[in-house]
Amino acid sequence: MSRIEPREQIVAMSGYHSPQVDVPVRLNTNESPFAPPSGWVDSLAGIAASIDWNRYPDRSAAALRAEIASRHGLDPAQVLVGNGSNEVLQMILLAFGGAGRTVAMFEPTYQMYAQIARVTGASVVTGERRADFTLDPAEIERVMSRDKPAVTFLCNPNNPTGVVEPRSNLEALLQLAPGLVVVDEAYAEFSDWTAAPMVRDDLPLVVTRTFSKTLSLAALRVGYVLAPRRVVEALEVAALPYHLDSFKQAATLAALAHTDEMTARVAEIKAQRARISGGLAAAGCEVWPSGANFVLFRPGSAGAATVWQGLLDRGILVRDCSGWPGLAGCLRVTVGTDAENSAFLRAMAELSA
Ligand SMILES: *Cc1c(COP(=O)(O)O)cnc(C)c1O
Repeated sequence: MSRIEPREQIVAMSGYHSPQVDVPVRLNTNESPFAPPSGWVDSLAGIAASIDWNRYPDRSAAALRAEIASRHGLDPAQVLVGNGSNEVLQMILLAFGGAGRTVAMFEPTYQMYAQIARVTGASVVTGERRADFTLDPAEIERVMSRDKPAVTFLCNPNNPTGVVEPRSNLEALLQLAPGLVVVDEAYAEFSDWTAAPMVRDDLPLVVTRTFSKTLSLAALRVGYVLAPRRVVEALEVAALPYHLDSFKQAATLAALAHTDEMTARVAEIKAQRARISGGLAAAGCEVWPSGANFVLFRPGSAGAATVWQGLLDRGILVRDCSGWPGLAGCLRVTVGTDAENSAFLRAMAELSA
């Protein structure tokens, strides 16, 4: 054995990368196309100046937690904030996954669930979705009874399909799952329902949210979890001490004062989403209905690889999903600004001509 030999799970994995290519029109990672409110940006220098930089941050992020909890009608002990919701997912899997445990998800879905689960040493099991990408209650039952997962992930709306799950499927999952059910609501603001109001101490339901999408703060790296107190206590054990820096705590709290301004843009994004879906269908693509800020589509005869490259040649980057389970030939485009969407649709019309 070489003296530099990572664990076998690490060697077996290539890591999760969405290529960061420097192009004028970036529609590949579902960020908000809009800058955060200027009032918030202007407040940052004052926030930075007010930090006791030689001191460790408030370990429990009490003020931020209390504010998030009150917005959801929960107790601060039912909230934990992390460096992006990916860190929250990692804390969940450190505390509830790990060696000897099984983690379930229904493909195609967000790839980080399997990736982080494997890094913690858990085994990953997958169920399939129906042709319309919703869950099949019989498949939920099959996976839950066969694999007895300690953690089951449901991404709603689902990335990369955009599909909004019927509420009855979450209810079925909560009935049948022998362990935790984690609903990842990274795109909740674009959807017509949320599981957040269902969170309570005697239900094994965990809901995760992020500031990276609707709230225009992907660069800040903040996300949080709503969960039963016992779950949050376990996550606190898995979290590193002082994991949330002082500046981030204060800047996030300040951002929450601007939520209305940011969520007001959701209507604009939804209108642009409808325009993109219509334009793609007109260009001969297969298009799936989306409850998020992106659209999954399958280009016609030109094929995904040619269209992806053709877009890149025109300075437009979209996500190639063709290698994901069940998504042969599919690409995913994030809703951008009006001008970016126009550039994208023009390019698609050219590439399909
Ligand atoms: C973008 C995204 C996240 C967000 O991750 P952050 O770490 O909060 O930026 C989480 N889940 C899904 C499904 C996503 O698409």
